[in-house]
Amino acid sequence: MSYVDEIIDLVVEKNPAQPEFHQAVKEVLESLRVVVEAHEEEYRRDALLERMVNPERQIIFRVPWVDDKGQVQVNTAYRVQFNSAIGPYKGGLRLHPSVNLGIIKFLGFEQIFKNSLTGLPIGGGKGGSDFDPKGKSDREVMAFCQSFMTELTKYVGADTDVPAGDIGTGAREIGYMYGQYKRLTNRYEGVLTGKGLSYGGSLARKEATGYGLLYLTAEMLKSNGSSIEGKTVAVSGAGNVAIYAIQKAQQLGAKPVTCSDSTGWIYDPDGIDVELLKEVKEVKRARLTEYAAARPNAQYHEGKGVWSVKVDVALPCATQNELQLEDAKQLVANGCIAVCEGANMPTTLEATEYLQNNGVWFVPGKAANAGGVATSALEMSQNSERLHWTFEEVDGKLQQIMVNIFHNLDKAAKDYGMAGNYVAGANIAGFLKVAEAMTAQGIV
Ligand code: NDP
Repeated sequence: MSYVDEIIDLVVEKNPAQPEFHQAVKEVLESLRVVVEAHEEEYRRDALLERMVNPERQIIFRVPWVDDKGQVQVNTAYRVQFNSAIGPYKGGLRLHPSVNLGIIKFLGFEQIFKNSLTGLPIGGGKGGSDFDPKGKSDREVMAFCQSFMTELTKYVGADTDVPAGDIGTGAREIGYMYGQYKRLTNRYEGVLTGKGLSYGGSLARKEATGYGLLYLTAEMLKSNGSSIEGKTVAVSGAGNVAIYAIQKAQQLGAKPVTCSDSTGWIYDPDGIDVELLKEVKEVKRARLTEYAAARPNAQYHEGKGVWSVKVDVALPCATQNELQLEDAKQLVANGCIAVCEGANMPTTLEATEYLQNNGVWFVPGKAANAGGVATSALEMSQNSERLHWTFEEVDGKLQQIMVNIFHNLDKAAKDYGMAGNYVAGANIAGFLKVAEAMTAQGIV
């Protein structure tokens, strides 16, 4: 049996009931076959893949807090410190009822390669809790965040592990967590990214993932003789990534016509009104029905459906496994030429294969949404030198990073005889750097 197949079997056997983690490992290792075969003896001897799929440390803890009625609530929280070969652990904190260890491990595993691809010195980690900030008062969110950080403080630090936001963890949650860290440690340091501008945050961090997604998409289209200008775009989600993807798509001359949330989706043939969307989602934290109510030509539909619209480019920006085989078939039938992932693993394996086999340019999230973590690393740099850069400075660096990521993965795919396979290119480029660093650092 090949080394790759042995490891995939091992991961399934040793990590029962973690389907998302299995899926992520399988997706990465399948595309690394050629690389692993080329170094099989050395990697086997060093158990490199066994170490790569085993987190360096996994922390699971309870988070007790008191709700507004005086009732004690208990959530479960995780921090998976996956790989520190190329820098301190770095990755977001997800607060959502669906969070479990398998989901955090899938995200942490992907993060290793994504962070490597940015070219910046950051290792891979991820964390979160099954706490749902939706419908909670500010005081309840603060109570949760303070209790969560009281335990997490023991394991994080500016040079050890630097968490960030993710689904459910926005500026409010990061603020409460930072306050508690500072209070407990008496240190004012860059232990979290995604901070507010008044206390060490970076300009352009909020926009970074969505903007970065579009910088990379534009570069990919350009290098294939096409252009983002004039393209019709389907975006899913209506959160941080989706909003700024829509905004940058418009700035680059494209026309995004959809967005969605966990209850329904919008088709706006005139192009999404991004200021209205921000008002509904960022300010009022309301449902998309409010968007439709304010736009006479926009249609609101319950449930899923964004991928049924005829578009040139699809940008899934909501959550994992939201673009399935049937959706991929519909996109292809409608003439879609490119899918670039703003969310983490939004496309299932079958859907990815279908898109690739039908000539759709497909860029995986670990490359396409790396602008968020890259700008987090720029926030870390600013915190270390205790300086602030201008929006233009950060945005300029972000743009350059995204262009470099695309060319690195494009080259890696070509070097290994898989030109145009950006999934393989991203995994190979991300993996080689981490593998080299792990080998150089010995058996640790
Ligand atoms: P947000 O919480 O800001 O937004 C998520 C959006 O997706 C919301 O509109 C939400 O709907 C919708 N959504 C969530 N779960 C589901 C579901 N099960 N079905 C349908 N819609 C759903 O998160 P972000 O925009 O920050 O993150 C989106 C994705 O991008 C995630 O996969 C995240 O891991 C990834 N990502 C984020 C980065 C960042 O910098 N923020 C960086 C890199 C990746 P509702 O409004 O109803 O809650």
